[in-house]
Amino acid sequence: MASTAPTTETIDQARIRLAQKARESGVKVRIGSDGRFFVSSASRFGHEHFVTGWSCDCDGFARHGRCMHHSAVLACIGWLPTADGPGDTAKQLETAVATATGTA
Ligand SMILES: [Zn+2]
Repeated sequence: MASTAPTTETIDQARIRLAQKARESGVKVRIGSDGRFFVSSASRFGHEHFVTGWSCDCDGFARHGRCMHHSAVLACIGWLPTADGPGDTAKQLETAVATATGTA
């Protein structure tokens, strides 16, 4: 599998790029009733990846230590680095949970 990522890309830049790719791919982050994260697969319809703040169960994460599912969760919980620095993590998590559970 060829990668289009520039070789000089930092891990933070990669995570921002992958979160953008996740948005463009339309993958959905779901928070289970027990608080675990599940992210829909862009390539396997109906399949979800189990994701934590530190890992994803997909092949891409196993190979590269990063993937768009993991980056999507980082964006969702406010752990994605931004040019403005860290955001209001607690508020972003509250918003993400409300959105995922339909209570927003
Ligand atoms: Zn993944």
